Amino acid sequence: MNSIVIGAGFGGIAAALRLKAKGYEVTLVEKHNDLGGRARVFRRNGFTFDGGPTVITAPYLINELFELFKKNPKDYIDLLPLNIWYQFVFDDGSKFNYSGDEINMKTQIGKISENDIEGYTKLVNFTKKIFDKGFSELADVPFDKPLVMMQQLPSLLKLKSYKSVYSLVSYYVKNEKLRRMLSMHPLLVGGNPFTTTSIYGLILYLEKKWGIHYSMGGTGNIIKGLERLMNEVGVKIIKGHEVKKIISDNKKITGVQLDDEQKINANYVVSNADPPAVYENLLNESKNNSFLFKWKKNRMEYSMGLFVYYFGTKKIYSDIEHHTIKFGIKYKEHLNDIFDNKILNNDISYYLHRPSATDKSMAPEGHDCFYVLVPVPNNQSNIDWKNEGEKMKNLVIDKMEKDLMPDLRENIIEDFYLTPNYFEKDLNTKYGSGFSIQPKFSQSAYFRFHNKSEIYDGLYFVGAGTHPGAGVPGVLSSAKILDKII
Ligand SMILES: Cc1cc2nc3c(=O)[nH]c(=O)nc-3n(C[C@H](O)[C@H](O)[C@H](O)COP(=O)(O)OP(=O)(O)OC[C@H]3O[C@@H](n4cnc5c(N)ncnc54)[C@H](O)[C@@H]3O)c2cc1C
Repeated sequence: MNSIVIGAGFGGIAAALRLKAKGYEVTLVEKHNDLGGRARVFRRNGFTFDGGPTVITAPYLINELFELFKKNPKDYIDLLPLNIWYQFVFDDGSKFNYSGDEINMKTQIGKISENDIEGYTKLVNFTKKIFDKGFSELADVPFDKPLVMMQQLPSLLKLKSYKSVYSLVSYYVKNEKLRRMLSMHPLLVGGNPFTTTSIYGLILYLEKKWGIHYSMGGTGNIIKGLERLMNEVGVKIIKGHEVKKIISDNKKITGVQLDDEQKINANYVVSNADPPAVYENLLNESKNNSFLFKWKKNRMEYSMGLFVYYFGTKKIYSDIEHHTIKFGIKYKEHLNDIFDNKILNNDISYYLHRPSATDKSMAPEGHDCFYVLVPVPNNQSNIDWKNEGEKMKNLVIDKMEKDLMPDLRENIIEDFYLTPNYFEKDLNTKYGSGFSIQPKFSQSAYFRFHNKSEIYDGLYFVGAGTHPGAGVPGVLSSAKILDKII
């Protein structure tokens, strides 16, 4: 039996390996000349810039892919647990070192708000309950039938899934600094903490369960290890070719057509490309899609866009931790501007990555390597990034100079940036969103794009736009679902 996987993000690679382990012939087709999708690597003058994911959680999901073939993951990848997970920097200059050390967490929480220590403990206990249900039980369950969703509704309601993550955290914790810090996780998967269903509160506990890891040599080394594994076990990889059409015969998938007109026949096609873009551009949407499906697709709300500025410095900023998060002042208003009003706002929040804090190989000797990620509106905004890109770059440098890194501008010797245009044009994501559709309750589980296509026989989806959703653990779990449905 032949299968084709379209796209080599984490989800597509995991799908290819899982199908191969089940005995299928597998061809993986990737548009770019390198694998990884959002986890691609950019190398410039001795600096190694991981394009996207940097916070590695639930490492067992990566290890499993090697173990499927009786290989030792340690022969391919080197994951290092970090002591400080995130350093939060507040506007008054205070800092919070967020980690898995509960005694240290409570000491720091007590310094900000003695009364919130107990609420924090209760919050963690509650997120464990959400985790047990939402992750351990449901992350790799195919939600392709309404009955499966209906069976879960009572327990989801009991876990207060109708609340937002921010409102859940606010129930337990009263201090605004702590509320922001403990409710930021939806931003890691494309959601607004003020509207994302509290199911995603499970990420808080997921981090505690397995820790936060760094892949030595960068996240790109995980992709490299998985590519080596695919070559060893006989997954055929076609790089530098885009699938232009998924071929079907009366709603039964028969293969794909590439950008050089080559046709490849297949019994199964698994798409790691963004589902709405696939339905619109690679399939005959107007002919085949039902009214109900068109309605579902058209009412979807998309995650924010990302402005990512990669830079290398000739100075070493040894005070900067591996992961730093700085919130803007009018945080909620800023998120409204991004998600609802779709306009830019100078009061940015940002996440700063400094892999060279842990791994000197990421920058030339005596240098430092960074990226800074700023949530921005997706391309439903019609922002002209050709003009706004330079302005945003300068704004971010100004903010970082003021908040964290003195004399930054004069020390940058290498830089470039990506805008939502990259996500739309290069990665084929609708509206250039950073994480496909938003993780709202009305777009979770059965309400996302299904792992087994609701329209075509033989078509399957893995990756951020399908169940369970974005983030490396999410997309790896989506591939695990294939084991149950193919
Ligand atoms: C800047 C950034 C930082 C992030 N940080 C983290 C983090 O720290 N931790 C974490 O867990 N997650 C993080 N994420 C989220 C995580 O990276 C993504 O959710 C995940 O990697 C997406 O994987 P995916 O399987 O959906 O595929 P993608 O990475 O989206 O890859 C899809 C692939 O399909 C290819 N493709 C598309 N259409 C076609 C076609 N027609 N033909 C051939 N190929 C095609 C694309 O070129 C691409 O390679 C981050 C994301 C970004 C953007």
